[in-house]
Amino acid sequence: MVKYSYPFPNNINYKMHTGEHHEKFLETKFAIDFILPMKTKVLAARAGKVVSLKKDSNKYISNMKIINAMTQEAIKHFVEKYTNFVCITHSDGTFAEYLHLDRNVQVKEGQKVKAGEIMGYIGMTGLTTQSHLHFNVFKIKNGKGISIPIEFK
Ligand SMILES: [Zn+2]
Repeated sequence: MVKYSYPFPNNINYKMHTGEHHEKFLETKFAIDFILPMKTKVLAARAGKVVSLKKDSNKYISNMKIINAMTQEAIKHFVEKYTNFVCITHSDGTFAEYLHLDRNVQVKEGQKVKAGEIMGYIGMTGLTTQSHLHFNVFKIKNGKGISIPIEFK
């Protein structure tokens, strides 16, 4: 099994959360939230090629009262419109998404990245109660993302 690097520098203190908000959806079942300070470098956890990204948002909602009052539809809309991210594809056809980045994304669509290469910085964009990186590896099956478990080095 391929082992992944941690997607941030190894001298940074972090906390790792999985959790119910991921586990209830096939798309994010094995996603991990790395709680990290703002502006921490986000590094490629595995070599790949950038397939999509978003870097124009500086909006977020962090108030759980507000989030809990939103419909699934409204959540989906907000997440898609305001979450900065980088998505890369690996040589085996799987994908990794790196969410909630700030606007200072360092890669372009189509660019190849090596493991450990800087792609952006931790920010607050989308739905996020504290600064963190949402990291998820998935494959596409019948047009849908299916989260897959991974191991770190
Ligand atoms: Zn998450």
